[in-house]
Amino acid sequence: MRPAVSTRAPATLSPGLYIVATPIGNLGDITLRAAEVLRACDGVACEDTRVTGKLMKHLGASKPLWRYDDHASDKDRARLVKSMHTRSVALVSDAGTPLVSDPGYRLVREARAAGIAIVTLPGPCAAVAGLTLSGLPNDKFLFAGFLPVKDKARADALRDLAAVPATLVFYETAPRLLKALAGIGDVLPGREVAVARELTKLHEECRTGFPQQLIAHYAAHPPKGEIVLLIGPPGDDAPNASDAEALLVEALETLKPSQAAAQVARATGLDRKDLYARALELKAG
Ligand code: SAM
Repeated sequence: MRPAVSTRAPATLSPGLYIVATPIGNLGDITLRAAEVLRACDGVACEDTRVTGKLMKHLGASKPLWRYDDHASDKDRARLVKSMHTRSVALVSDAGTPLVSDPGYRLVREARAAGIAIVTLPGPCAAVAGLTLSGLPNDKFLFAGFLPVKDKARADALRDLAAVPATLVFYETAPRLLKALAGIGDVLPGREVAVARELTKLHEECRTGFPQQLIAHYAAHPPKGEIVLLIGPPGDDAPNASDAEALLVEALETLKPSQAAAQVARATGLDRKDLYARALELKAG
């Protein structure tokens, strides 16, 4: 039987598993249903009891918090699933939607297999928030989690995804952003890229451009905070003459004409000698 969740505060919840999305920065993004379930459930399975404890305090809720992640032992998971026959268990992650690059996959799978009633409470998800802000095509998108850290593995992963006819969405960290952009610049130089940073927080920003432009920006302004990295789909993404001109003008602000031409040639695949000639003209004014 499907557990009932109304928009009014219920005294109790039916037993089962409640997958609850929580804010990715701005606490105001908690949904009415999420708040209701966290206040009414029998307990919360969470990644970090301190992080979830703060959210519960913000909601005025006090419930047992059980640490749970995908490294939990099979025995612990089986015990938690068994308890869902008689208890309402909310599953949350530190931020955003559980299971999206976060724990919960095994728990949901085993709960389904055990015939537990499962309800999902959708809400914030950084991948979707970044996509909506990026201005990149969103009719088709592929979420690919975190890019590999090592250069070769990252390049291989990007090559595997190069022909996918969709916007590619990745999670990234600030310290690794420049390397990731460099990898994209090498493998997919002509693609439009978006860096969506600190979504829903005070310093939210979304910057778009070709990889080399974004590298130039973030080399000068080292990024902080949490990042969603997006790559536009292949197709009409080959940079045209006016894109190249804009890239040259920007590169000439910090580089010599020969360096600027080399950088833009790498980014666009256009002829380096032609770009150098144009760079000299631009420099001459
Ligand atoms: N389950 C979460 C969700 O639904 O968005 C994602 C968890 S994953 C472990 C954490 C990654 O999500 C971060 O490294 C970052 O790439 C992205 N992220 C989380 N919050 C973000 C925010 N406020 N702004 C930008 N990216 C964010």
